[in-house]
Amino acid sequence: MNLSGSCHCGRVAFDLDAEIAEVYDCNCSMCRRRGGLLAFVPREALTLRTPEEAAGTYRFNKHHIAHRFCPDCGIAPYSEAADPRTGAPTAAVNVRCLEGVDLAALKVVQIDGASL
Ligand SMILES: [Zn+2]
Repeated sequence: MNLSGSCHCGRVAFDLDAEIAEVYDCNCSMCRRRGGLLAFVPREALTLRTPEEAAGTYRFNKHHIAHRFCPDCGIAPYSEAADPRTGAPTAAVNVRCLEGVDLAALKVVQIDGASL
């Protein structure tokens, strides 16, 4: 399924090739403030339509995850990291930043990122 996503102002925009049925609501110190709903996809499923350097990068804790955000509007549409088990490049997309996704139809799974 081809989806498109962006920050609020459009400085950061991307296409996503993924089926999204289940999303994660994480309680870590960042996610509980940001309030995103995350879908994990192979990094290659995400194609940037704007230059990579258009987004800022925030890292915390172990600094393994690059949390991308828009320096203009402040929205954080996706994060990137290597999968801790396989090492495969993975993206966590904030499904709230995708167009045409019925958020109410998604199964929301709570993950205890605060304890990881
Ligand atoms: Zn923006």
